[in-house]
Amino acid sequence: VAAEGMRSLLAEDLADVPPEVPARLLAGRRVMAVCHENPDADALGSAMAISLALESHGARVDLVCADPVPQMYDFLPHVERFSQRPDPDLDPDLIVVCDCGDLARVGSILEAHPGLFERVPIVNIDHHASNPGFGAVDWVDATSAATCEQATLLMSHLEVSLEASDGDIAQHLTAGLVFDTANFAHSNTTPRTLRVASELVAAGAELPMIARRIYRTKPDAQLRLYGTVLARLETAAEGRLIWSVVSDADYGAAGASPQMAEGLIDLLAQSATAEVAILFKDIGSETRLSVRTRDGGVDAIELTGAFGGGGHARAAGATVELPFAEARPRVLELAARLIAAMPPR
Ligand code: 5GP
Ligand code: MN
Repeated sequence: VAAEGMRSLLAEDLADVPPEVPARLLAGRRVMAVCHENPDADALGSAMAISLALESHGARVDLVCADPVPQMYDFLPHVERFSQRPDPDLDPDLIVVCDCGDLARVGSILEAHPGLFERVPIVNIDHHASNPGFGAVDWVDATSAATCEQATLLMSHLEVSLEASDGDIAQHLTAGLVFDTANFAHSNTTPRTLRVASELVAAGAELPMIARRIYRTKPDAQLRLYGTVLARLETAAEGRLIWSVVSDADYGAAGASPQMAEGLIDLLAQSATAEVAILFKDIGSETRLSVRTRDGGVDAIELTGAFGGGGHARAAGATVELPFAEARPRVLELAARLIAAMPPR
């Protein structure tokens, strides 16, 4: 009875799911579920929850991610199922792409198997405003805090209870919400996000454990890496621009892995004065950008878009095809220009 009561909390939100999405998903018998490279909890969680749901309807589902699952997600059930390459035996009749702002975000799988993504119908489930729509069916909801928010609404249409799979579905969906909202603190958190979270907690998701594991648990090597990178931060435009850089040498010195740079950009973005925070990742011939911007200020997509990237207005990224020394002045110059063009606060 309590569960029924909670379910009515989402009654009106369920209309936000385009009917073609569950219809296509339920028709899949051999499904490949793919999330973005360098996966995070929203990418992994949405792909996993949808996979478990489709398996409960008898489909075979293979989970694929171009990069290994970071160790920090060991607490999530079944993540060992993610394979870095499609199984040649699968011969999928459906590909579900989760949390990918464009198809290239699936990473090296796309280059290795371009024919697969052209031949097999794609269901594209995502929440990035910059998503161009690359699927046979596209469900891009930029008002959604996380792809896991959409995936939670989807469960009801798939006739899968949020308690299903021994609670594993709810754990994954909650992890994605916690990650993409920074514990329901970012401006992407809406009343619907909280209704969805309420449902998941009612279904047994362990919110305190998930929040602690995702945002308050770090290997000492990562804390050491944070120290190095934060100590060298620089500012420009009278403190309205803050940036730092992390390189291979830093990982070596701290005993850290490149994945441990995750979270650094959000610390830079804690600057009291910065409108734009940028973390450069010096990866030799290329430079990765992570960008965060203050509410109501610079559009992060405008900055990263100029370098072939994308994301959200407040959080975006790009890969610049230039070494750091050449990428840095170009990126900082555009960032400073966008800041200068802002209306006064
Ligand atoms: P992060 O800085 O955490 O790596 O990424 C911030 C946001 O921008 C995430 O939502 C991520 O999906 C998106 N993003 C990061 N890099 C890229 C990119 O190269 N292209 C696009 N389209 N989106 C990106
Ligand atoms: Mn996401």
